[in-house]
Amino acid sequence: MYQIAIDGTSGSGKSSFAKGLAKAFGFYYLNTGEIYRALACAYKQGGYAEVNEENITAFVEDIEVKVDFEEGKQVVYVNGNSYTPYLRLEEISALTSQVAPFKILRARVLDVQRNFAKENNVVMEGRDIGSTVLPNADVKIFLTADVRARAERRYKELSPEDKAKTSFEEVLKDLEERDYRDSHRAVAPLKVAEGAVVLDNSNLNLQETIDEGIKIIRQKIKM
Ligand code: C5P
Repeated sequence: MYQIAIDGTSGSGKSSFAKGLAKAFGFYYLNTGEIYRALACAYKQGGYAEVNEENITAFVEDIEVKVDFEEGKQVVYVNGNSYTPYLRLEEISALTSQVAPFKILRARVLDVQRNFAKENNVVMEGRDIGSTVLPNADVKIFLTADVRARAERRYKELSPEDKAKTSFEEVLKDLEERDYRDSHRAVAPLKVAEGAVVLDNSNLNLQETIDEGIKIIRQKIKM
């Protein structure tokens, strides 16, 4: 089985990049952020009063996590429930980053990720794939771009209503803060994994970034 690990900074376009690579090679694309997001949804549904070690431990003991592909689309089930329409809600994004640092929860997601990679060719995208989840991946790519380039992309993608409420400077500041938090958190900090190729796409569009990724992969594995 082939394992391609994709990590990188917020707003670098990791998901579209990983999806494009998976399509080019006919591999599965596993979006690990969605597993954490689905767990956050299930946690919320569990009615726990707050996010703490005790509650997370009780929650994790009680869950079964399954990743399925339906018509080519990833669906995450927690105790048989899929939370697809809710995964990207702002409230869930915030809760996800609160629950994701707990080791006991990460250990559970680690099993799901590794079991998937054992049985399938995969392009796996996340924050700690090359460093922790698949340290022996065939190819590791760390995708990044200059923070201003990433902020410009984020700003362009905002709806007109959101643009009226947020300035470019605020988007930039938010990304700078996220970079700091992601690389300084105690558990699974974002870092360039050993053996990873750093791909800076500040001056590349999505297709050019995917083409570069394909070149990197072809240099490492002969298919
Ligand atoms: O990639 P995405 O933004 O959907 O991930 C949502 C959240 O899940 C991240 O902000 C992070 O807190 C967490 N996450 C993680 N490890 C991963 C993927 C996501 O901690 N491998």
